[in-house]
Amino acid sequence: MAVYTYPNKQEQQVAAHVTSADQLGIAPAELQHTLKLAGLLQTSLEIDTILGFFIDALQEKIEFDGVHFEYSPLLLEHKFGQKKRHTCSYRLKLAGEFLGELEFSRRHRFAQQEMEQLENLLRQLIYPLRNAIWYQQAVTAAQFDPLTGIKNRASLDQNLVREVDLAHRNKTPLSLIIADIDFFKKINDQFGHSAGDEILKAFAKCIDDNLRASDIVFRYGGEEFVVLLTGTDGRSARAVANRIRKAIESFSFSHSSHDDSSKVPLTASLGTASLTAKDTVESLFDKADKALYHAKEAGRNQVISFQSLIKSA
Ligand code: GH3
Ligand code: MG
Ligand code: MG
Repeated sequence: MAVYTYPNKQEQQVAAHVTSADQLGIAPAELQHTLKLAGLLQTSLEIDTILGFFIDALQEKIEFDGVHFEYSPLLLEHKFGQKKRHTCSYRLKLAGEFLGELEFSRRHRFAQQEMEQLENLLRQLIYPLRNAIWYQQAVTAAQFDPLTGIKNRASLDQNLVREVDLAHRNKTPLSLIIADIDFFKKINDQFGHSAGDEILKAFAKCIDDNLRASDIVFRYGGEEFVVLLTGTDGRSARAVANRIRKAIESFSFSHSSHDDSSKVPLTASLGTASLTAKDTVESLFDKADKALYHAKEAGRNQVISFQSLIKSA
């Protein structure tokens, strides 16, 4: 609801300003358009929403067929309409900070006067866009683990809620793997904490290299990692977990210290669980965790599925 009330407030502010527009020598309609856009652009921190508002406002002034926005540092890309032959491109910057590239296109050439109008409107976009990019950067940073570069626990929590809900609704399989490095404390003690960090990075990469594009690996905390496998049943999840276990066992982990490179033997234990109709996010996670616990108890460097625990009980 708040989304709707705020622009209405802006309309009132616009009306108040218009009385003084004549004194400024600006056409009242022009000023109203500008203030309306400025108000709208402040109502969101979502880049595509902001661009949508901007494009709607621009369409009232200039004819165009396609808009393409790209902000490569965050791999963001937004396309509106269809690209046509004549283009007009801007590399957006504010106080030296790159804010992306914006390209407008249409069938016929842009006139000088239209480009001036476009640039005037772009000035309205630049600050809200900068704020939205900063917001997006903060959101992205909050989702990733700085050491390994993979997604973190906060991201897992969000993804799990969404995927469990989707799997229940669509009646599709969903599985989890929890992987925990064996005797990692000893590795830290023997080779040092920074060597431990290097190994954690290589470990995360080794898991990631053994997944399909649809599987996601998260650092749950410390030396524990979780793989979320959408559309995957228990049998396939066990196969993935076994592949990861083997890859880790045969991977040549090394660390460099004092110009000397040492090989570090490394293994991991893995627990797997698959969603049943009764499962919640919490119960699914607990099942995979129980399976992991049993893999540790049974001697480590192995995969145990929750399903196998029920069968043997
Ligand atoms: P187990 O086989 O039972 O899992 O034994 P473990 O030693 O791996 O497990 P434990 O929970 O006793 O120790 C985990 C160790 O992981 C202790 C902690 O210092 C280390 N650790 C956690 N996070 C980091 C990290 O970011 N970097 C490094 N180098 N070590 C970490
Ligand atoms: Mg461990
Ligand atoms: Mg652990």
